[in-house]
Amino acid sequence: MMENTTDLENETNRLYPEIDKVFKLQKQNQYNVAKTTSAQRINKLKLLRTAITHTYNTELKLAMYKELRKHETEVELNEITPVVGAINFAIRRLKRWMQDDPVPTPMSLFGFSHRIKYEPKGVVLIIAPWNFPINLSLMPLVSALAAGNTIILKPSENTPHSSVVLKKMINNLFDEGEIHVIIGGIQETTYLLKQPFNHIFFTGAPHVGKIVMKAAADNLASVSLELGGKSPTIIDETAQIEDAATRIAWSKCLNNGQICIAPDYVLIHQSRKNEFIKIYKEKVKQMYGSPADSESYGRIVNKRHFDRLRSYLDDAKEKGGNVLMGGQTDASQNYIEPTVIGALPDTALLWQEEIFGPILPIRTYSDIKEAIQFINSREKPLALYIYSKHKKRIKQIIDQTRSGAVAINYSAVHYVNPHLPFGGSNNSGIGKANGYYGFQAFSNAKGIQKHWSSPLNLLGLIYPPYTARKSKLAKLITKWFA
Ligand code: NAD
Repeated sequence: MMENTTDLENETNRLYPEIDKVFKLQKQNQYNVAKTTSAQRINKLKLLRTAITHTYNTELKLAMYKELRKHETEVELNEITPVVGAINFAIRRLKRWMQDDPVPTPMSLFGFSHRIKYEPKGVVLIIAPWNFPINLSLMPLVSALAAGNTIILKPSENTPHSSVVLKKMINNLFDEGEIHVIIGGIQETTYLLKQPFNHIFFTGAPHVGKIVMKAAADNLASVSLELGGKSPTIIDETAQIEDAATRIAWSKCLNNGQICIAPDYVLIHQSRKNEFIKIYKEKVKQMYGSPADSESYGRIVNKRHFDRLRSYLDDAKEKGGNVLMGGQTDASQNYIEPTVIGALPDTALLWQEEIFGPILPIRTYSDIKEAIQFINSREKPLALYIYSKHKKRIKQIIDQTRSGAVAINYSAVHYVNPHLPFGGSNNSGIGKANGYYGFQAFSNAKGIQKHWSSPLNLLGLIYPPYTARKSKLAKLITKWFA
């Protein structure tokens, strides 16, 4: 930990030459990396896979236990497995992804052929958040590497132990002119953002996403913004309440609710509220017993985020919110008990801010239109969850709302399928990640046109000077071929 501003400045000044040097090297080296074959890229992916599953596996687990008291099973399931899955998915398909895609040629372009080549964007920057320090650093890195870019990865300063292991691992595995980890906070990121990267992949909060996008505009760098927000859950009168309560309790308490796609709040049909709360309490007890003593229940990442969450609780109580479950906190451990709050007025902070913690506000409705209206009066969420057996109602909700994704009768696992694009819309994100969508995000789809080398040049018939015959021909072309 740095003690004061001067220490931070010294550290920052010391780091800038590293950024300058690596950026320059990567810029020079980008065309060599772009030339690598699928087999060479697959070898690098395999190196990374071995590093996270074997060489650095224990160190990574230890780091995340220190930071988030993350149980090693949770690290295996939610940090390591998704990255290994992404690597395996890319390994099986990379040769095909890298091949040019032929596209049809319209009649009006008789004599030509067309294809799309996916070329690497060039030198890319990945900025990662702290909540899944390995998953959210390495998933985009796998896509960027598969697409043939040189990469600078900047993990979060809020998970310093994981960042140090990441740095050691990546910087040992790869040449710095190819892939390199730079550790730092806002100052280092601000300096990085001044460099003319070809693409910036940012995962984090919407207000920081705006800073990143503004900085990218100076260099006209393309961006992928994987942001957050408030992901709603609708539970209608037909829902299987036991399943809903179990799955919401699991996904709200996982990683202590510090998940971008955690169910942020529940909108429930008034007839099912009491039943839901009763079962939610039972399920939390089944999973964690006494959460404060459970090894399976994590902690809030740091004091700042703990204070933020406690202020939401205080604000809710002051404004008349009804604590239906939990509510206990322990500052010495950054501990927040799994909590459910009802009867919250619209002005409560819990309705305004992304919660990112194990607190679940719950609100009843009598007509589904109220729930839809409530969601649509806010920013577009990253995910929308629907618990219902009513097919028409499910379709109505999907059709009448907007969100990055929808999951029906489950929460927070849609990101696992690499065949689905992952990402938000506007305030919850710009661009898509995972699988082929990730490969595309780090590639430029270059259109290539070729004229057959034959004397036949139909377009030549309409070159100037324009005559009455050519005007007629132009009209015919418009009529028949446009
Ligand atoms: P954050 O935006 O505070 O930080 C993310 C990164 O940005 C960090 O590396 C940090 O160093 C850098 N950063 C922070 N402030 C900056 C500034 N002023 N200038 C330049 N760089 C800056 O986010 P966080 O607290 O690490 O993560 C939580 C947020 O991320 C939540 O909003 C959550 O929903 C979102 N999130 C989204 C996804 C997704 O896939 N869509 C995944 C995880 C988290």
